[in-house]
Formats: sequence, C-alpha cells, structure tokens
Amino acid sequence: MSALAKNYNRRKIAFKKGKGSFLFAKNGKKYLDFCMGIAVNSLGHAHPYLVKELNKQSKKVWHVSNAFIIPEGERLAKRLTQKTFADSVIFQNSGAEATEAAIKVARRYFYSIGKSKKNRILCVKNSFHGRTLATIYASGSKKMTEGFGPKVDGFDHFEFGNHKELKKSITSKTAAIMIETVMGEGGIKVVPDWCLKELRKICNKKKILLILDEVQCGIGRSGNFFAFEQSKIKPDIVPIAKGIGGGFPIGAVLMNKKVSSGMTPGTHGSTFGGNPLAMSVGNAVLDQIFKKGFLKNVKNLSKYFHNELDKIKREFPKIIKEVRGVGLLIGLQLFHDQTKFVQKLMDNKLLTIRAAENVVRILPPLTVKKNEINLALKIIRKVCKEY
Ligand SMILES: *Cc1c(COP(=O)(O)O)cnc(C)c1O
Repeated sequence: MSALAKNYNRRKIAFKKGKGSFLFAKNGKKYLDFCMGIAVNSLGHAHPYLVKELNKQSKKVWHVSNAFIIPEGERLAKRLTQKTFADSVIFQNSGAEATEAAIKVARRYFYSIGKSKKNRILCVKNSFHGRTLATIYASGSKKMTEGFGPKVDGFDHFEFGNHKELKKSITSKTAAIMIETVMGEGGIKVVPDWCLKELRKICNKKKILLILDEVQCGIGRSGNFFAFEQSKIKPDIVPIAKGIGGGFPIGAVLMNKKVSSGMTPGTHGSTFGGNPLAMSVGNAVLDQIFKKGFLKNVKNLSKYFHNELDKIKREFPKIIKEVRGVGLLIGLQLFHDQTKFVQKLMDNKLLTIRAAENVVRILPPLTVKKNEINLALKIIRKVCKEY
C-alpha cells in the first residue's frame, strides 16, 4: 500500500530513466513521451547540456538566501527582460506561486498609487492558474474549490469567448484581467491574436492591467518565446514556470517597469525562489532555446505535426472532432470521453495526457525530431483504426 495520499489517480507505471523524447519503464518497455511532465521537460529527458550545467553548479553552491546577491539569478532575469516586454522579474518555485505573485504585483501597484480599492482580478471561468487557495478561486472551477472554503474573495469571472460578459464584468474595482494565452488544462483553447489586441485596448481604456498566464504555453512551446508575441501586444505581468526549468522547479513573474514600482523591499519573498542551482538550470535552458534556429525548428516541426494530425482527423471524422493548439502545445479533441484513447496510446507506447473538453493533450519536447513525430502519428493512426 502506498503511503502517499490519494489525491492523484496515478497510472500504474514507473520509470527508471529517460533519454531525449523517450522514457524507459521499470517493466522494460520504452515509451515515446509526448506528455513531458505536462510541458515541463522542454528539452526532453536528461539533456546532456542541462546535466552538465546542473552538475557544474552542484559542486559550487546550491542555495543561499535572497538576503544576498545571487549572480546566476541576476543573469537569468537580465536575459528574460532583454528578450521580452518585461523590465524586472521575481523568481518563485512553481506556476501557482508565479500566478499568485502576479496577483500580488497587480494589487500592490494600485495600492502604491493610492487606489487600493482597485483590487479585483477578472478571470476566465474554468481556467487554470494553480492549486493554492487564491489560485483555485482565480481559476473559478467548482471542482477545484469544492470543500476548500471559505471562498477567497477578489476574483470575478467571465465565460471564455463571451466578450459581452467580459466587458460587463469590468467595474471600477477591477485591477487586472488575467487569462491564459492558451488555455492548457481547459482544453488547449487558443486566444486569437485579434482578441489579445482587443483585450489590450480595453485594459488601456479602463486603466487596468493585463496579466497573461504563460506557465504552460510560454518558453518556446508555441514556437515563439511567448505565445502572445504573435499578436504584437505587450502585457503588464506574465507568470511563467513549467518549461523554464526543463524539469527543475522554477517559477517567475515578469513585469513591466510601471507595475514593478509597487514591489518595494519586504513586500514579497521566497526562501527557495531563485536559488543558484535553479537559476543555473534556467540559464542552461535559455542557452538552448535562444540558440539561432531553435524556435524556427519548433515552428516548422509543429506545422508538419498539425498538418498530419489534420489528415488523421479527416480519415477518422467520427473519432476526432478538432485538432487544436499552437506550436507543440497540441490538443486532439475527440467526440467522446478521451480516457480510453489515452490508455490505448499508452498501450502502444505513446504517452499523452488529458485536458478538459475530451481533449488528448500532446506535448512533445521542443527538441523533438521529425522521425519521433512520425512514430507518434503512426501510433495515433493505429489507435484510431482499432477504436
Ligand atoms: C500548470 C499551470 C499552473 C500551475 O503550475 P504549478 O507549477 O502546478 O503550480 C498555472 N497556470 C497554468 C496556465 C498552468 O498550466
């Protein structure tokens, strides 16, 4: 009997090692891993460069307090701001911490300009921003909040795509709109560029902040460094996590100069956030993702993958309803519950993961090779045939 609490419904399999796009199970089987720790292992398993950099740092210094200067973190923050809209960064350890810090930054900004009544955050119903008390109520999901009351106040919600409701929900107390640029857990739903542009306009007009949660879709997953880049807009605050650590727990909130002015000494902190070991791994991940041609390759391969999946969809119009997503954040929406489909893929040695709305989520590493995509396509086609 497991001594772990039963808060997960785990698949009955464990792994002994990973290499690139593959995982090797204790039962001797080799799996193509297109789950990748839910978009976390952005460079695949045991990437030699990440292993080298982690080992190098592990012999120097793992952890010092944020009471001291941490050069590895200074460097990672500098690189993140040089490449993006942001002017400063606060490091955390997870996505939920990053989104919660984003909420704190937004509220603190209005407090610092004497508008502390402007403190409500407008979010999408049934989105996903993490599992802390504040972020489950930000997510506005009945399932996630059930039994965890009293309710954490300060969040309002609108239905994804319901622009009328969105506009109606903005009040004089609204501090920020917070959305996932691509809804991950919610079923790989992409917010189109024109919507992002409109959102930016609305926020400017109403003098509220725009928070784009890029915890899942950021750090190259979309084919751009951030998924919102395609729309050419600039958000005010962006929480990131998952892909930036390549498997090492790192979260961060990126912000522009205007909002960072509220985060004065003592307003926020984290014991582990931004420690030298984590920061060295983060820098190593960026060394790879910032390499010339890296993201272009992600774009090209993902275009191929989407096209081929569309073909499979046309071959099996009674099974697959829609191919969703951007870059290597892909959702196969089925007509019926996808649990059995995900299991069949796994029986055929392809690992994927579910998302809402009957979606099979496909998350290859950003280092995936074309022949590995072809292998996945072959398995998906086979499962469709036998379904
Ligand atoms: C995964 C995720 C989070 C929460 O990240 P954790 O590291 O699990 O706390 C927040 N927002 C989005 C969009 C996510 O996909």
